Amino acid sequence: MARSMLAGMGAALADLVLPRTCAGCGIPGAMFCAGCAELLARPRPAAPRRVPWGFPPTAAAGAYAGPVRPAVLEFKERGRAELARPLGAALALAVAAVVSAVPGPLGPWRPVTLVPVPSSRAGLRSRGRDHVRELTVRAVAELRAAGVPAAEARLLRRRGHVRDSAGLSVAQRRANLSGTFQRVATRPPPAPGALLVVVDDVVTTGATLTEAAAALAAGRPAGATPVLAAVVAATPRAAPERAPQAHLHVVPKRSENVCRGPGDRLSGPDGRD
Ligand SMILES: [Zn+2]
Repeated sequence: MARSMLAGMGAALADLVLPRTCAGCGIPGAMFCAGCAELLARPRPAAPRRVPWGFPPTAAAGAYAGPVRPAVLEFKERGRAELARPLGAALALAVAAVVSAVPGPLGPWRPVTLVPVPSSRAGLRSRGRDHVRELTVRAVAELRAAGVPAAEARLLRRRGHVRDSAGLSVAQRRANLSGTFQRVATRPPPAPGALLVVVDDVVTTGATLTEAAAALAAGRPAGATPVLAAVVAATPRAAPERAPQAHLHVVPKRSENVCRGPGDRLSGPDGRD
């Protein structure tokens, strides 16, 4: 608390002495101008170039390109924590988009539980903060303000280490190496019937979201609504303005939850996730 108050005071002091510029395009004025915010206001389905099996139905608020890229980096790597507000609002739009793709009777929203992808220990150490959680908290606030019964639940934990594989069967080795995340209990638990949405800042290869969704889905009954995912931005493969919009349709069978067509080409060669 004291730390966040200090951070807030620091930002206020910085405002007094430094001219504010847009973290995306650099024009003076707002921390994130209306033009750049517009780039994160049209959620679309996101799928990597090579869709990993089990990749969850995912929506991105925009493309990780142009001014969006420096804005995310300013927030994530250079400590401009005040960008959690516009980027969190973008994440909320992506969550609303992926949740609205789940078929069901119209009426009050189902409860939605946002599950942040946990940062690695190295990431936490180097940044001194958990930027995905900051986005999650803002997104939950935005969704609740819009009347969506949303909550955060930190249901995922990174496994501390991978066991030595000596003496393990082939199946055990695969399980040992693939389980980056494990599901943990939270108090309170997610609301009954809540849609689980894994949230992260950027998706590129889809490996992280796939692993996270698999850890959350373990033990769920067959036919349950799949674990969903939402991100601020997805790395584009094609020029986003030329990519037609694809439809996202969520069905219980995970292998069918793949967006097809040029509109899903939202992953690139960066190799990061
Ligand atoms: Zn701008």
